[in-house]
Amino acid sequence: MMSISMSVPLDHGFLRRECPHCERQFKWHHGPIESRPKDAVDPDVYFCPYCGETAPLDHWLTKEQAECAQRLALGDGMRLLQDEFEQLERKTRGGMIQFKFESADVGEPPLPLHEPEDMMVVQSPCHPWEPIKIDQSWSEPLHCLVCGSQFAVG
Ligand SMILES: [Zn+2]
Ligand SMILES: [Zn+2]
Repeated sequence: MMSISMSVPLDHGFLRRECPHCERQFKWHHGPIESRPKDAVDPDVYFCPYCGETAPLDHWLTKEQAECAQRLALGDGMRLLQDEFEQLERKTRGGMIQFKFESADVGEPPLPLHEPEDMMVVQSPCHPWEPIKIDQSWSEPLHCLVCGSQFAVG
């Protein structure tokens, strides 16, 4: 299993997320804010603030984040392959067959993700230490990210 590390920009601590069900975007706070009670536990699944559907922690990548991760993984794969080729190249040097590999087009560097300061901060009454940012134009009740309880905005 290849592990890739990707740096994702935050908007004042908020991380852009996309619901795997309704595909609407919101942001959740990267880690709880200070007022979190000591006995609070991280939930296994999170609730979409818009549609109220649930998904595990790692299912909320936006299309851009997913694409970036994919390109990083691809880039790693290419580098691995290139290492093998280079070893091959060394082994066969001076032999009958010459391998020569150019490294010029090994995976383009991934697009740097850009995070604009947009959306509006809301806190659920039940879990105020897990604030989210939602689309300003949303006027329907929201679901708490942590427990799914409905609450009205404003
Ligand atoms: Zn949703
Ligand atoms: Zn809640």
